[in-house]
Amino acid sequence: MANAESLKQIKKRRTFAIISHPDAGKTTITEKVLLFGNALQTAGTVKGKKSGQHAKSDWMDMEKERGISVTTSVMQFPYHDKLVNLLDTPGHEDFSEDTYRTLTAVDSCLMVIDAAKGVEDRTRKLMEVTRLRDTPIVTFMNKLDRDIRDPMELLDEVETELDILCAPITWPIGCGKSFKGVYHLHRDETVLYQTGMGHTIQEVRIIKGLENTELDSAVGSDLAQQLRDELELVIGASNEFDEELFLQGQLTPVYFGTALGNFGVDHMLDGLTEWAPEPQSRETDQGEINAEDEGFSGFVFKIQANMDPKHRDRIAFCRIVSGKYEKGMKMRHTRIGKDVRISDALTFLAGDRALLEEAYAGDIIGLHNHGSIRIGDTFTSGKEYRFTGIPNFAPELFKRIRLKDPLKQKQLQKGLIQLSEEGAVQVFRPLMNNDLIVGAVGVLQFDVVVARLKSEYNVDAIYEHVNVSTARWVYGDDKKVDEFRRKAQQNLALDGGDNLTYIAPTMVNLQLAQERYPDIQFAKTREH
Ligand code: GDP
Repeated sequence: MANAESLKQIKKRRTFAIISHPDAGKTTITEKVLLFGNALQTAGTVKGKKSGQHAKSDWMDMEKERGISVTTSVMQFPYHDKLVNLLDTPGHEDFSEDTYRTLTAVDSCLMVIDAAKGVEDRTRKLMEVTRLRDTPIVTFMNKLDRDIRDPMELLDEVETELDILCAPITWPIGCGKSFKGVYHLHRDETVLYQTGMGHTIQEVRIIKGLENTELDSAVGSDLAQQLRDELELVIGASNEFDEELFLQGQLTPVYFGTALGNFGVDHMLDGLTEWAPEPQSRETDQGEINAEDEGFSGFVFKIQANMDPKHRDRIAFCRIVSGKYEKGMKMRHTRIGKDVRISDALTFLAGDRALLEEAYAGDIIGLHNHGSIRIGDTFTSGKEYRFTGIPNFAPELFKRIRLKDPLKQKQLQKGLIQLSEEGAVQVFRPLMNNDLIVGAVGVLQFDVVVARLKSEYNVDAIYEHVNVSTARWVYGDDKKVDEFRRKAQQNLALDGGDNLTYIAPTMVNLQLAQERYPDIQFAKTREH
């Protein structure tokens, strides 16, 4: 067991990420959350894509040109008696495998849904990833200041499409121009919305009790009656909040509001900090490690190159699983079996890098990486084990990569393998030819790779179309895999770590292969 002070520190930590479809309001809600956390003076400095002001976490010219944030930055802030770590998940064109892997480093997620649109594609994919660990999900229905879809229908859609039960904690009164506020089911009170206060923490007016006649005068008797009628239905037809089901990822508390109007965000934060789990245990090849266990441990879920042009280094993002990091401590890098002394780990305060004195389970620290750290690496205070469950995800986009100068084939291979170890991209080498195929989850990964090949390996590379639309890692009984290897050779490749991969020209082709070879497992993820 860790000592009492460490235990106290660990127990107050809540580490989460936001999952949403682009434009649902992730950036806006992040700004408001930071406003509540006192991490920003005025909301509106996370991402300057509209104002032309650059976000604090911008690091690459490419990113500045596009006004997007390539960095999965980490923001830490206090909220009531808790200390919250919010991990940013790249979302627009900067969507990448890092987005998925960040979800393996959190203990809960906030799902933001544009209530005018409902469940969208990206949200579906991200929810699929949270299922790998049954991560608890809190839901925020955003943009209530616009005309939204019927709230009951939205809950239905979440339940059927995402396979999770909904327990509304607040319920909206009107929407769009007639959005009046929300009724909080657990507090039995109505919180009234005022427009034009989105950049501040508002003084809200609260009306206690549903039958209170003040409610009728505040929102109009039609809306008040509608609210009472709807609530009768909602309470009958939806689920009550159940903490156990929430912690198992089977039920989500649902909040309504507007991130832009900074309304309802605090209700959501209250719920999240109250119910979201404290730092959770993680599996290793030697069994489970709990947050309270004695001794430091952590795993690397993301490697970021050139975060700061002034320091052309790479930063490995390490999620602490147990114990405490102290400046200057010795850590065991268990993959290479070496002790390293870390005196300059970084913490991330709303995008600023700062040197860190200490950090606890649940926190993310940044380790300077001079090439010896890979995705999935484990650091401990001496013990020899390795964390599992930090996978590669099957790419969805593929291109053949080719050199402008054919003499540099070796550098290209080396660069690609290293970049794949860092998780920047995946590389596949077909068994039947000398192609190099690059696979990614998000389009920007391709540009990042070409830019980094040029600046770090001095290689000019270009892309060509390749007829691959999906990939699966191949597992099975040795004999069966050997046979499969012979028969399906034209569709097989080795990835950056020499693992056998089926690369399919179409989804139909993949399905046929799966039917034809029932003894072969076609996996969408691969453990490091
Ligand atoms: P992200 O792509 O998920 O990070 O979304 P943003 O936070 O950048 O928001 C996308 C757009 O929706 C921006 O123009 C926001 O101003 C707008 N937006 C975000 N929240 C709200 C809201 O509650 N109401 C309205 N009307 N617009 C919103």
